[in-house]
Amino acid sequence: MDLLEGLNPAQREAVLHPSGPLLVLAGAGSGKTLVLTRRVAYLVKERGVPPSSILAITFTNKAAGEMKERIRPILSGADGLWIGTFHSIGLRILRMESNALGLKRDFSIYDERERLSLIRECMRREGIEDELITPERVASYIEAMKNDAIAPEDVEPSGHLEERLLSLYRVYEDALRKNSAVDFGNLILLPLRLFRENPAILSRYRELFQHVLVDEFQDTNLAQYQLIRLLLNGERNLWVVGDDDQSIYGWRGARVRNILDLERDFPDLRVIRLEENYRSTGTILGAANSVIRNNTMRRGKTLWTRQGEGEKVTLAILESEEEEANWVGRTILDLSKERDLGEFAIFYRTNAQSRVLEEALLRSGIPYEILGGTRFYERAEIKDIIAYLRVILNPEDSQSLLRVINQPPRGIGRRTIELTRAIAERDSLSLFDAILKGMEEGVFRGRGEGVRLFVGQISQLQGLLCLPPFDFLERLLHVTGLLAMWEDKGEEGRVENIKEFLSAAKEFEEDNPGSDIRDFLDHLSLVSDIDSYDQGRGKVALMTIHSAKGLEFPVVFMTGMEEGLFPHGKAVAEGDVEEERRLCYVGMTRAKERLFLSAARRRRIFGKIMEQRPSRFLDEVDRHYLRLYRVDAGPEGGSFGPVDDRAFSTGDLVEHPAFGRGKVLGMKGRDVLIVSFHGAGLKKLKVPPAPLKKVG
Ligand code: ATP
Ligand code: MG
Repeated sequence: MDLLEGLNPAQREAVLHPSGPLLVLAGAGSGKTLVLTRRVAYLVKERGVPPSSILAITFTNKAAGEMKERIRPILSGADGLWIGTFHSIGLRILRMESNALGLKRDFSIYDERERLSLIRECMRREGIEDELITPERVASYIEAMKNDAIAPEDVEPSGHLEERLLSLYRVYEDALRKNSAVDFGNLILLPLRLFRENPAILSRYRELFQHVLVDEFQDTNLAQYQLIRLLLNGERNLWVVGDDDQSIYGWRGARVRNILDLERDFPDLRVIRLEENYRSTGTILGAANSVIRNNTMRRGKTLWTRQGEGEKVTLAILESEEEEANWVGRTILDLSKERDLGEFAIFYRTNAQSRVLEEALLRSGIPYEILGGTRFYERAEIKDIIAYLRVILNPEDSQSLLRVINQPPRGIGRRTIELTRAIAERDSLSLFDAILKGMEEGVFRGRGEGVRLFVGQISQLQGLLCLPPFDFLERLLHVTGLLAMWEDKGEEGRVENIKEFLSAAKEFEEDNPGSDIRDFLDHLSLVSDIDSYDQGRGKVALMTIHSAKGLEFPVVFMTGMEEGLFPHGKAVAEGDVEEERRLCYVGMTRAKERLFLSAARRRRIFGKIMEQRPSRFLDEVDRHYLRLYRVDAGPEGGSFGPVDDRAFSTGDLVEHPAFGRGKVLGMKGRDVLIVSFHGAGLKKLKVPPAPLKKVG
């Protein structure tokens, strides 16, 4: 296969770029990800760069997997490549260099919930009871610090509140260390610290990585940017793609500014723009462009397509969220006569919106798959297994130990745990070691049986760590009695989930020959369910717009397009409407052939029925691209109105039977025009019913 096949001249240039820093700055669907993939293949195949000397950073693990798949047939093996998300690359480095950081090799990785519960414990220990300082607040403070690569010792607190947050940050880091655990932020921060403090290690990696490539560069945070910069050697082969209009993670510390900083930090930066969109119809692209045009903080770019105009974008305003959901279901059923269900995606702004949609799909008998929301691996029965794995690999992980020490019940109660805690405090031990010590000292007395059982099972399983993941898990379930416990309780759903989990282990084993349970656990810590989503499996995909980034679907529904929901009320209050608008742009540009936008007039929010107003983003869509779905024909009926023929835009010359001729100056809301009539002056008219006609 010719690596340049089918590429346009600008795409080719990007693939063939000789050396030095390069930024591909281009809009949605212009082939950025495609070009990045080809570039990696090109470097190996044509330039003879060893795969292991290429660091390619993708935004999701799924994207990394796809890239490996695409590269595999081109290269004989893609295995040596360093392809993955920032987090998975950080983890790989940490596992290799844990020694230098004084970290145990088998350290645990805490997710958001575990992080919160550790923070709660820290607060309890510090005796902090302050309404202003909630665990969530502390968590977001710490996260923000880590996004900006700020360690506790770097901060000069600006007041009493920050002083306390800062001291909790310190206590929390300390607690992580005691548990031999890291959080997600540390997966970036610790490698950064490692490289800063160990020039010898840094220069080893600098020599290794001859090329660094980054997809979705607009959503990198400061810590990630610093990490990349640090890794560049004298050749400075940094090759990134991004779109400032698609930066949607500002709330998580992403800085579009990194794109601007690139030019400052690399004066010889070469910028290539891609202007042809290969994904969407002209109508979809035009509609998306008409929305994003309203942002002031953007570089602005032209994007065109040769796909033809395609069908109009449908806009539907329904009476309630149930009707909206039913309408989505009906429309899908209708279109599915000619399309596979896997071609449809339904987006919403927040996870809570999925419930009503799910119910409607269930009623219509439409199979669907939810991505995001409660992730499979966050189910309690699965978390139990994961906690066991962590204790087995890392007995210092006291958080995980507390989760499973009495699951299944071993008669270990609060008193035993208190005794253990006391020993742990007294001798500065982990809970696991404190149990061993307590057994030695005989402090558990009559209660000793349960802890002996637990410790025995853990050490038995520790002896089996070299088994392949599936076999190991089977033994774990057997030895601990976890599966039998759920079976005895008649919890069929949980039993099913555990079996599904075993299948996931089998699948992992097959994809990663020679892997062990450690590898599987690392994999689990990093995957999200977007990663396992397999398009075209005959199911409609439901997800938040954030999760849809980088993906594409033939048919897209964007639901709940109402003020307060999208743009989200919080963003409006905080003056972040531009990020919401970028999110809207991201959502619309996922669609290849058909795009449906919908809103409800009334919606139940936190149990209360709220009167909703259509989103300002709907107003911003150029009328020319829309057709309106009317519901006035009754709940089952509905018809498509000829909005497109009658649509007015600013600047149109119009005629009114009473006011005569005039010019449209602007729009207010979706259907109110402000017209300056030559004779009658300024009027506001609601269209329909105002009998207004376009002239000329
Ligand atoms: P996003 O900004 O949404 O991440 P992107 O710029 O990364 O989009 P890709 O996902 O790489 O765009 O490409 C969009 C679609 O266009 C894909 O289906 C891709 O295969 C196709 N495509 C890209 N370039 C070409 C080309 N030169 N010829 C034909 N198809 C192309
Ligand atoms: Mg992309």
